[in-house]
Amino acid sequence: PAADPVTAAAVKAADRAHVFHSWSAQGLIDPLAVAGAEGSYFWDYEGRRYLDFTSGLVYTNIGYQHPTVVAAIQEQAGKLTTFAPAFAVEARSEAARLIAERTPGDLDRIFFTSGGAEAVEHAVRMARLHTGRPKILSAYRSYHGATGTAINVTGDPRRWASDNGTAGVVRFWAPFLYRSPFYATTEAEEAERALRHLEETIAFEGPSTVAAVVLETIPGTAGIMVPPPGYLAGVREICDRYGVVMVLDEVMTGFGRTGKWFAAEHFDVVPDLLTFAKGVNSGYVPLGGVAISDRIAATFETRAYPGGLTYSGHPLACAAAVATLQVMADENVVERAARTGAELLGPGLRALAERHPSVGEVRGTGVFWALDLVRDRATREPLVPYNASGEAAAPMAAFAAACKEGGLWPFVNMHRTHVVPPCTVSEAEVREGLEVLDAALTVADGFTV
Ligand code: PLP
Repeated sequence: PAADPVTAAAVKAADRAHVFHSWSAQGLIDPLAVAGAEGSYFWDYEGRRYLDFTSGLVYTNIGYQHPTVVAAIQEQAGKLTTFAPAFAVEARSEAARLIAERTPGDLDRIFFTSGGAEAVEHAVRMARLHTGRPKILSAYRSYHGATGTAINVTGDPRRWASDNGTAGVVRFWAPFLYRSPFYATTEAEEAERALRHLEETIAFEGPSTVAAVVLETIPGTAGIMVPPPGYLAGVREICDRYGVVMVLDEVMTGFGRTGKWFAAEHFDVVPDLLTFAKGVNSGYVPLGGVAISDRIAATFETRAYPGGLTYSGHPLACAAAVATLQVMADENVVERAARTGAELLGPGLRALAERHPSVGEVRGTGVFWALDLVRDRATREPLVPYNASGEAAAPMAAFAAACKEGGLWPFVNMHRTHVVPPCTVSEAEVREGLEVLDAALTVADGFTV
């Protein structure tokens, strides 16, 4: 890419004057001005190119600017850019059909939203209306979005500022053996204790008050914790026993990220409601939704569902989904993600862990990996304290800076880095990324005891 400092300065100046950014102290940020992107890379106006190991916010599963999807969006724009949600529209019908074909079990009705948080909002509303019960159970170490209900269902510090305690959400601990809330030492113990804890939580809350259990199938932003064998099947059984709706949030894990179309397939579990967004069309046009089981759909067969969105099933977003799903099938994207994880990323990251004392644990599957960075492998003390900012977070900032210096854009959250490139990442790109991570981890090693 050619350098263009004049445009860069104008883009930056207007951003700083007028764009109010998410999750940020507006006066303390310095966003990079991006000039373009293609495949696994993006570049700035200075001519610097970065290998994107974040997939944006873990959503460009087919990489940037896939020509087939770009062409489909252009074609749909020429045909019918938009149309209100009460009508049957070709792109919307086709997207719903293709998504329903891929979602597990009888999740065959699709309510479209504009993103992940709205999908969670509506899944929660459907569960409450279906059961007539008020409470939602959700896990600590989770993220479900930033709208009113979704942020309250979230189990991490991003909720705190928006939590006035009236959202009707009760939180529980999901399994995470490396930092076990149950003092377990084996996966079997962790699964068994986590299930007992969930069942007791429901029993003591009062089963007749609990509408839904909401879980990320594999928690994403909170640390990519693959649940132990038997856990999700156990949650399914508990939900069935108490008439509780099981909601799996697959906003981040859906559409190939974990090496399956949906992460639920790894565990042979079918939820009652499944939320999706991101990978459904690689985020080329905002789209999310709820896949609804027959049983819950039946509740709203002759009774109106009291919810809707102006842009539900937006034709441009749906056309992008149809093309994305076609590309994913044609290019074996899901299988490639599985193979990249099993043959390249998994072994490559484990090899890094052997060399670098700052890596406490490597976990993940497909193109969905976390390195849990620690100050001390023996105690597992995180490299920076929970929810640290400023000076306390300096070791992670130094790690991130070293990645960028090497031409890799890293995903950094608290004391972790997530390795989440597009599902279409090539072998050469994986090797390039691992080399940069190797150098950056040497910087992190400098902060270990
Ligand atoms: N649910 C999960 C599991 C997510 O990872 C996210 C976003 O990262 C959301 C919900 C919220 O999605 P959105 O940002 O599109 O509202």
